[in-house]
Amino acid sequence: MTTKKSLTLVGDGSKGARIHDIVKAPANTPWAKARQQSWDASEPATVYYTPETLADGTPCSAVTVILRTKGCHWWWSSGCTFCGYFNDTRDDVTNEDLHAQWAYAKTKFDDFKGHAMVKVYTSGSLLEDREIPVAFQETVLRDCQTLGKELIVESRCEQLTEEKLAWATSINTSFAVAIGLEAYDDEVLRFHVNKGFTTKSWDRAVANLKKFDIRVKTYLMFKPPFMNEADALLHGVKWIEDVAEQSDEISVNPMNIQRGTIIDRLHRHNEYRPPWLWSLVEMIRRAHPTIHPKDTGNGGEGQVSRLIVHPTAGGRVRGAHNCGACDAHVVAAIERYAVSGELQEFEGLACECEKAWAEEVALEHALPTPLGISKPRRGNVLDALRAP
Ligand code: SF4
Ligand SMILES: [Zn+2]
Repeated sequence: MTTKKSLTLVGDGSKGARIHDIVKAPANTPWAKARQQSWDASEPATVYYTPETLADGTPCSAVTVILRTKGCHWWWSSGCTFCGYFNDTRDDVTNEDLHAQWAYAKTKFDDFKGHAMVKVYTSGSLLEDREIPVAFQETVLRDCQTLGKELIVESRCEQLTEEKLAWATSINTSFAVAIGLEAYDDEVLRFHVNKGFTTKSWDRAVANLKKFDIRVKTYLMFKPPFMNEADALLHGVKWIEDVAEQSDEISVNPMNIQRGTIIDRLHRHNEYRPPWLWSLVEMIRRAHPTIHPKDTGNGGEGQVSRLIVHPTAGGRVRGAHNCGACDAHVVAAIERYAVSGELQEFEGLACECEKAWAEEVALEHALPTPLGISKPRRGNVLDALRAP
């Protein structure tokens, strides 16, 4: 009698579990399912307003509407290694629900009166028909056009075809698209981020956006998984240089650890430390001449792009952080630079921990340490060593 041979060394020959189901789809765990069902599908995830800058550099106020959606189609089949957006989604959201959420946001902010800009985020791509019903895409585009608001939407690259953009611009003549490119490096996109698209697809998408005169905002990720601090710094600067000419705005997101993601597992296993705030300061210093060749600050002559670094959860263990004593000052300086575009913001910043950071970066340059030598957590070293 012959039995079917298992290809694995262990197990009974039955079909193996997919790694996706074990590691990459915490969306299927009981806690995540319960959380998803707890959301009210007729209300947006959140609506708030922040100070912003219009395309021409004028300061303004912007309402951000984060909609409760089905989430990102790339997440359904695979997903980026750091993306925790699935935590905020509900897979049964309908067209009517989305319209109700939009009406809620408009009512709450009185048809966005007093706010010149509206950002509509969907935990995925607004212009992706598999995620967002076309009727709802049209409502958002049309309403913002009618109300005279600058609209910003997020999208992956594959949706930004000439056909789709021709349709969108026939409804709204002035909007910007933010693309989560993360890294201008195919190896990093594939093996560190699991992005599911390449730099070529970003090039194509940007060329299409330019054809329709649509503004481009590029998100880059600082210190993706499986990368040490020194490499993150080298890459971070290079990617800014690579995309600056093509991007009206570059927003660098320093890694912050979101629940249930691959990076969350690495972090909990002490195999990843979120970036140092000092690295962000150094990255800005090195990239500044590319963005402001004449060193004139935001809105000044010769500005190539706008560079924004916003350390989400800055100063916390799960966000970009330093020693704990200097974090608030350094985060504040980084935030100020996003507004002013002037390096003077960093003058006078100093702390003992800067030496430890510089030493780490120097050692990582000299030693083959792909995962880095950073202490994964701050706090008492003995406690960290004793931790399971
Ligand atoms: S493409 Fe964006 S929304 Fe989709 S999994 Fe990646 S980071 Fe998340
Ligand atoms: Zn410090």
